Amino acid sequence: MSTESQHLYSQLPAIDRLLRDPAIEPLVAQHGQTLISELLRQLQLQARETIKQQQQLPGWCGDWPQALGAALMQRQRSALAPVFNLSGTVLHTNLGRALLAQPAIEAVTRSMGSAVTLEYDLDGAGRGHRDRAIADVLCQLTGAEDACIVNNNAAAVLLMLAAIAPGKQVVVSRGELVEIGGAFRIPDVMRQAGCQLVEVGTTNRTHLKDYRNAINDQTGLLMKVHTSNYSIQGFTAAVDEAELAQLGAEYGLPTATDLGSGSLIDMAQYGLPAEPMPQRLLAAGVDLVTFSGDKLLGGPQAGIILGKKALIARLQQHPLKRALRVGKLTLAALEATLRLYQQPELLAQHLPTLRLLTRPQQAMEDAAQRLLQALTPQFSAQFRLRAEPCWSQIGSGSLPVDRLPSYALTFEPLDGRGATLEALAERWRRLPQPVIGRINDGRLWLDLRCLEQEDALIEALRA
Ligand SMILES: *Cc1c(COP(=O)(O)O)cnc(C)c1O
Repeated sequence: MSTESQHLYSQLPAIDRLLRDPAIEPLVAQHGQTLISELLRQLQLQARETIKQQQQLPGWCGDWPQALGAALMQRQRSALAPVFNLSGTVLHTNLGRALLAQPAIEAVTRSMGSAVTLEYDLDGAGRGHRDRAIADVLCQLTGAEDACIVNNNAAAVLLMLAAIAPGKQVVVSRGELVEIGGAFRIPDVMRQAGCQLVEVGTTNRTHLKDYRNAINDQTGLLMKVHTSNYSIQGFTAAVDEAELAQLGAEYGLPTATDLGSGSLIDMAQYGLPAEPMPQRLLAAGVDLVTFSGDKLLGGPQAGIILGKKALIARLQQHPLKRALRVGKLTLAALEATLRLYQQPELLAQHLPTLRLLTRPQQAMEDAAQRLLQALTPQFSAQFRLRAEPCWSQIGSGSLPVDRLPSYALTFEPLDGRGATLEALAERWRRLPQPVIGRINDGRLWLDLRCLEQEDALIEALRA
């Protein structure tokens, strides 16, 4: 080791001494010696590494208390940092999908710190299980005979298959062997549930006779999967639920549909792309329908299964239900979300998902103009800012081709370099409340559809 390096190492202060530093002592009092010592040791290791690599002290060694403060902030930053979702995708799976409505947030908060009547009935009527009360609300809203609630829709499909057709054949169209993100593939789930997948028809065309020909004494279920995240166009044919339900009834076989998203209200009335409604499928005779709680429904992560009483009872009694059940926080949020559907006139106002999806383009355009004014001085040395029309996506397995007209604020680097753009996106990802946009066509786009706190964004970007 060179004497020069030795000299540098000897300049690093001892942990003991740092702990007694008047600027650091209050941090020890506040956060405890264990955490502060550990962070200081890490900083020391970092400094040693810099000396080894570059034969110099890192710049921050001039101010240990400040470096410690920064390390502390980094360490305490939640793994679930709130972000500005300006990605243009409203139900963004990687950003946690639906935002809860205020009544749902309040219901969760209330149930968090208190004992609740989860499986305890006050009138001695014997509730049976924890889904009971919320299943009643679901039945009221959809006309279903009964309901079952699990951790997410993937769990709903798994439980349904395992409980209804264990060891049996399940007939599905080749055009509906869906893979959604995160390794959920219908053929894999079938295997995990102990069912044997029987593919019928072709990728583009499946007919009722294809299902009929596949039925034998090993058949346990006829199933449809809503092809939510892709569409097959051109020379196509599919069997609708009513026809399949009739075929099932003819052979005494249950029918089921995995809807993915599904919507309890008619989206078309808001000018949005139509989405199949669970209550319509049930009315068409389908025995079981599954869908997500945090997609278009706008509630917490959950999987909801609606359908015939006797079949739901089998789901409730299956051992997997115990493993896949939801907790009181989810049930509280789901109940409060469903109650909003009892006042459909107010839904677009109270349910954030619907509020964001139905925001008129003019609202985003006005916001884009205001932000353009507010932020141009800050960025004009390096970027050309513009207010531009763009398209938002619903997200979460809604068709990528169904897009909603929106408005964005865009940032184009004056030097025309992609690296400058990447650096800007990177800087925004490091903000205390990160700003998530999307890079396209040499510009960084901030789609303003999901921006409801304009001032907070301006403040964040000016910092
Ligand atoms: C989204 C989706 C699922 C999975 O739902 P999660 O709630 O994410 O588990 C399953 N099937 C289809 C068709 C979907 O669109």
